[in-house]
Amino acid sequence: MEALLKHLVDITCQRDHTLLDSSIVSALHELVGASRVFVHELFRFRDELYIRPRVGINNGKIVSMEEAPDNHGEPITRYPALVESIKQRKTCMEDVNAAGDRTLWLPVWLNDKVSTCLEVTNPTPYSSHTLHMMEGILSVYRNYQNILDYSERDSLTGLLNRKTFDEKFSRLLTSSSPESGLQERDERRHQPAPGIGQWLAVVDIDHFKRVNDQFGHLYGDEVLILVANLLRQSFRSQDRVFRFGGEEFVVLLRSTTLEDARKIFERFRTNVEQHEFPQVGKVTVSLGFASISNESPVVILGHADQALYYAKANGRNRVCYYDELVKSGELHSEVSNDTVEFF
Ligand code: GH3
Ligand code: MG
Ligand code: MG
Repeated sequence: MEALLKHLVDITCQRDHTLLDSSIVSALHELVGASRVFVHELFRFRDELYIRPRVGINNGKIVSMEEAPDNHGEPITRYPALVESIKQRKTCMEDVNAAGDRTLWLPVWLNDKVSTCLEVTNPTPYSSHTLHMMEGILSVYRNYQNILDYSERDSLTGLLNRKTFDEKFSRLLTSSSPESGLQERDERRHQPAPGIGQWLAVVDIDHFKRVNDQFGHLYGDEVLILVANLLRQSFRSQDRVFRFGGEEFVVLLRSTTLEDARKIFERFRTNVEQHEFPQVGKVTVSLGFASISNESPVVILGHADQALYYAKANGRNRVCYYDELVKSGELHSEVSNDTVEFF
């Protein structure tokens, strides 16, 4: 009872999804004595459901996959018991493999949607008392996830908010620095291949004031929601999209070559350009991006922002890359005064 209370206190004092995931994993590991516990993210990609680990404990070792660049996930069809549990809208489904290991798949349902599931493996079956306790812990986890989601997201578009960006971006920068020690903690983490980088883009809607002035704020809001939807559709689930403020968005693009990053950003720009916005008609966006280097968050954001301003000053409806503009002499490598407002 005391151990259970300690874990409940630990779970409910978290203010962040990653830490919440870690505390649920250690609670299940310790309280039910599981040999392996993982929290997975479930996401849709080209009409297929995928699964990707976020954090787990395997043989007593904590494995954090959240920022791992090669963590692209796999189709859930590789896990028939999980597929079945989702099909039947169950909260628990057991799978026994050839070696006799028992895996419980525990999808976390929020209304009728599932975006998280737990995987709990143990060599021996659980008593009904343990299963009951596990169910209780999962309910607390689900409710708490709901509250966190509310504080991490922007209420108009449902995208991650500015506060979440500040936290996630700082964490991404620390976890990718060689001193972070994350490499040792994570056995599945590899060094990224040469040429592969992380990218940050700032997106701003062109002449958005005109939309508000011509059609009113409600239509302006509708455009923001639709652009947010296009952002969600244009980027992969391992990338992160934030509403940074007003009609500005930030995208963190993971593990891609420069060439692919440019293609992905261009594809998004074209998706907006080709979209027919009800009543408003055509809307375009400008995008500036920079590589996520060892510089500070302010400097990296400043680079992307300078590239965005260049795009704005040179025709709009464009994708501009900071390093290229510096190399060609169109931009000077200095931090603009505008960046001060970012942090
Ligand atoms: P540019 O191409 O240079 O970016 O021109 P712009 O008109 O988009 O320029 P600016 O950034 O100055 O204008 C942004 C406008 O966005 C101003 C503000 O009224 C509007 N805006 C900011 N937040 C919201 C919102 O939540 N809803 C609506 N409808 N409008 C918003
Ligand atoms: Mg703006
Ligand atoms: Mg604008």
